[in-house]
Amino acid sequence: MNIPRLLYQLQEIDLASDAAREKSTRIQNELATDPLAAERAAIGRWQTELKRLQHELRENDAQVDDFTDRIKGYEEKLYSGRITSPKELTTLQKDVELLRGHRVPYEDKSLELMEALEATEKTISDAEIALQRHVEALAAHNGELKGQLNSAMAELFELEARRAGLLPEIPSEVQVQYQALRKQKGKAISKVEQGTCRGCGIAVSPAWLHRARAGDVVRCANCNRIIYLE
Ligand SMILES: [Zn+2]
Repeated sequence: MNIPRLLYQLQEIDLASDAAREKSTRIQNELATDPLAAERAAIGRWQTELKRLQHELRENDAQVDDFTDRIKGYEEKLYSGRITSPKELTTLQKDVELLRGHRVPYEDKSLELMEALEATEKTISDAEIALQRHVEALAAHNGELKGQLNSAMAELFELEARRAGLLPEIPSEVQVQYQALRKQKGKAISKVEQGTCRGCGIAVSPAWLHRARAGDVVRCANCNRIIYLE
């Protein structure tokens, strides 16, 4: 049995497994994150702001109502016919005018708050519509990712079965060398094409080529990888 050829097959399997494992990790990480978290957080902040505005409007409206009640009280007194003194009537009229004047900024403030409320409600409603659209798109995307993850896992399972079938044909001391080189260099086996090691680009001596062709485990004198001739 040509050991370098088996090692080369083992390396093809291992590289494909690395890629499939990396792909499944990447997909799992992507599935574990929520890309819409910032959008949801923004909506949460606007809802908090909406509550604050609603509270402020209630308090401001209560002030307006308070002025209105007091004005009403004075006016009732004014038109009741019970007060006949012109001086007292004039004072009452002045008080009514004064209270009306004091009420104006609160009325303006209520209008401002209502406008801000409407704008915030619109912002929230628009953001919720956009979020819903993004949630649907994300669900579709995640569905695709899950499909890709299943394929990568199935591929990995198949590669592991092929690897398990190959290993008994490779002497264990060669497996140890292979693993050490793989760890050290990423690729343990280097193809030789036109007499040159593809791993480092340096020519391999004819004697080494001869031995490798015969199926011996021979290493490139330059990069130390096990060489393989097709
Ligand atoms: Zn080399």
